Amino acid sequence: MKITGFRLGLLSAPLRVPFRTALREVSRVEDIVVELYTADGAVGRGEAPPTAAVTGETLGSIEAALRGHICPSLVGREADGMEELLSAISRSIVGNTSAKAAAEIAVWDLYAQQYGLPLYKLLGGGKSGLETDLTISVNDPETMARDTADALSRGYDTLKIKVGENPALDLDRLRAVRAAAPEAVIRIDANQAWTSRQAVRLLEEMQAQGLRIELVEQPVKGKDLDGLQFVTTHSPVPVMADESVFSPQDAMTILQRHAADYINIKLMKCGGLSNALRIASAAEVCGVECMIGCMLEAKVSVTAAVHLACARGIITRVDLDGPALCSADPVAGGAVFSGRHISLSDEPGLGITGISGMRYLD
Ligand code: MG
Repeated sequence: MKITGFRLGLLSAPLRVPFRTALREVSRVEDIVVELYTADGAVGRGEAPPTAAVTGETLGSIEAALRGHICPSLVGREADGMEELLSAISRSIVGNTSAKAAAEIAVWDLYAQQYGLPLYKLLGGGKSGLETDLTISVNDPETMARDTADALSRGYDTLKIKVGENPALDLDRLRAVRAAAPEAVIRIDANQAWTSRQAVRLLEEMQAQGLRIELVEQPVKGKDLDGLQFVTTHSPVPVMADESVFSPQDAMTILQRHAADYINIKLMKCGGLSNALRIASAAEVCGVECMIGCMLEAKVSVTAAVHLACARGIITRVDLDGPALCSADPVAGGAVFSGRHISLSDEPGLGITGISGMRYLD
């Protein structure tokens, strides 16, 4: 069945509390949705958030890349010609990884629908459920302790704590969080904010103070692989590469250099499911466990990430809290989020049936 057309829309959902990291502050999720249509009435959906601070993409750039380059390269092609479709997306424009991820997700959604299978089964997966952590934004220690208590009351037992904005405060922040959650698994994310020596010093101090940090995400600048390797070698806390790994090639470099202990895979960084699968495979060969992460995304693209994580055993950690950070969910169908538990139905494709209140960008 041929892909006959596409439409783009703007999905908007308010956040429960403003999202703050060392890089930015955001108060609502606003993402571009792409819908691909086939002649027999099927709809494939994908979504991309504007994460200018990470991928360089804005709402305007995502819309322009999809409308002017990526989607036109798909119209007229067979929806079950997966290799051709993925290659068309990849060749349509350089960069623009989130826009490409949105188109890829829509293509995989259509493909799995044609075979009447949920996407995770098509990808070879067995399990249909996951447990996610919840992110606590970087703030003053009192606010972070309050957000931590709120997370525990909502049933989360693993927390990802944003640090790195004014590093002098980070130890105070983590002491406040640990006091509020003595039993929780606590992982931290510095979002590139530290120098390598500062990172080692801070991480040593955290463990010496009994803060029991499970892992630290991206302590240093994404491009500073020497620094990342230094922290991995000298820190008492295992290191996860996030902003250092966009492409499968980036992952290979990190794996070959042993520059990190874990890799954070995000569909929006790597350009979609096909590169995410390549990164997972490379990591699996090297015995390096991965986390599946997301940006500030609503449920269309996060559902695709859930399908991927259910299909790959090397993805042992789940940071898919985008929908849980929103105070309303405009997406019908797809993954079901209930506290920390995420489950998939056996509906074909992503299992998404509609999006309420979406404004089409025609
Ligand atoms: Mg991160």
